[in-house]
Amino acid sequence: MACFSLATQPSPMAMRRAGLLGRYFASPFRLLCRQISVEPQATVDRLKESGLLRTQGLIGGKWIDAYDGKTIQVQNPATGDVIASVPCMGRNETTNAISSAYNTFSSWSKLTASERSKCLRKWYDLIISHKEDLALLITLEQGKPLKESLGEVSYGAAFIEFFAEEAKRIYGDIIAPTIDDRRLFVLKQPVGVVGAITPWNFPLAMITRKVGPALACGCTVVVKPSEYTPLTALAAAELALQAGIPPGALNVVMGNASDIGDTLLESTQVRKITFTGSTAVGKKLMAGSASTVKKISLELGGNAPCIVFDDADLDVAVKGSLAAKFRNSGQTCVCANRILVQEGIYEKFANAFAKAVQALQVGNGLIEGTVQGPLINEAALEKVETMVQDATAKGADVVTGGKRHSLGMTFYEPTVLGNVNKEMLISRQEVFGPVAPLMRFKTEEEAIQMANDTNAGLAAYIFTTSMPRSWRVSEALEYGLVGVNEGLISTEVAPFGGFKQSGLGREGSKYGMDEYLEIKYVCLGNLKGT
Ligand code: NAP
Repeated sequence: MACFSLATQPSPMAMRRAGLLGRYFASPFRLLCRQISVEPQATVDRLKESGLLRTQGLIGGKWIDAYDGKTIQVQNPATGDVIASVPCMGRNETTNAISSAYNTFSSWSKLTASERSKCLRKWYDLIISHKEDLALLITLEQGKPLKESLGEVSYGAAFIEFFAEEAKRIYGDIIAPTIDDRRLFVLKQPVGVVGAITPWNFPLAMITRKVGPALACGCTVVVKPSEYTPLTALAAAELALQAGIPPGALNVVMGNASDIGDTLLESTQVRKITFTGSTAVGKKLMAGSASTVKKISLELGGNAPCIVFDDADLDVAVKGSLAAKFRNSGQTCVCANRILVQEGIYEKFANAFAKAVQALQVGNGLIEGTVQGPLINEAALEKVETMVQDATAKGADVVTGGKRHSLGMTFYEPTVLGNVNKEMLISRQEVFGPVAPLMRFKTEEEAIQMANDTNAGLAAYIFTTSMPRSWRVSEALEYGLVGVNEGLISTEVAPFGGFKQSGLGREGSKYGMDEYLEIKYVCLGNLKGT
């Protein structure tokens, strides 16, 4: 992470490139894109007018620079241009953000659930009414195709809507007493101040699925978005303020990740850490939480198997595997990382799948028709290259793709590798890029064994037309999410989280509320007294 001591203005080049792309659009989607990608200065003006191009941190309801004036440049991965600069914050700012969240907790947690729910609902409405602006920001700083960004805004907003509703459904219990002059109650209360650390691959949704339930339960939050994608987080925070979520309930700091992380971990005022990101950083946070015994939720890396059985419907399997693998250019934790194909269907599937992959249009996410954007940075690209080289050196075939894209920057060709085996790095680690490794198997037992042969356990997919097999294999897979004949399975109403080293806890759904609540048992005694 590079901090700069001079503030840098948004690059006219970045905005010009984004704006000029409007001319390529053709279709109803084109109309929407045209509204979004107007001329560069107009785009900036539009975002500024809506108050959404925020370039300072948010502490106690005030927009703040780093105390020493240092900044980080936010770049467009499709062009390399600087979009804006944001403060490079560290310990001082994080301490202030924690104090602000701590001071606000007493008032926010005492509001009725209905009052908190109304604020969240208003926030949801504002996110939806600014959907296009938010989607533009996501594509500019993260690179995913605009259509996927629009999808992310809907998905991200849905967590706020869902948890606005769940705020009113926090129930306790009355337990039958063991002594007749006693009554036993169970209350659920907010844990307190939450530190939420999020990655760059879903700049909005990874925040809303943490902040939504936290605020719904009465907690207050300090969010640290990724240095690569802070602008979406800041825009969402601006809308939270406009929605009437009180100053201090939601704070955003960004910059020096380990200083911010350590300050959150060391604080006795922070009672919960919720993190989405790599397994390596998750383990550090878990260890760091021990000194103050914080509650912790971790959504970490995956190594998703996608199992195609001989009895699969070929079209459904190709379409589902394509979606599971190539969404966000392969940069999601639930992306299929290994495609296990039974030998009877292997050739047919490999041919049809490779043909579909060859048709994927690569480019700047603002251009209509683009379905594969750039990777987030050069390090991500190098990781993909290393894994492909390792696989081919050990005998894998390049069925299609296999190298950097001619567009340059961090674009990589959508790639299919054939005859991958478990000796290759790509079958053991997340590639986090647009590379689909195909592995052969003979029997159902072998597929299950191969699928479970990993420390990760987030998402798995199976393609089969057999109902008994769907049940058998779903139950045997050591994964937190299983898609059967479906490659896109995330939704705010279902629990999301991993087995094994893919994490702890669940996000989304009614289970997502429990992560932000303490259970308190109250024994009311001596009822026979006056
Ligand atoms: P990452 O490097 O772990 O970063 C995630 C977040 O942690 C970022 O905000 C990062 O800040 C911050 N961070 C880095 N070092 C830290 C430290 N020492 N203390 C505190 N915070 C620290 O992961 P990533 O590369 O952004 O994301 C990709 C990973 O996330 C993949 O492994 C993917 O599978 C996983 N992921 C999991 C899920 C899930 O739900 N299970 C969802 C999405 C992604 P900076 O970016 O500012 O350095």
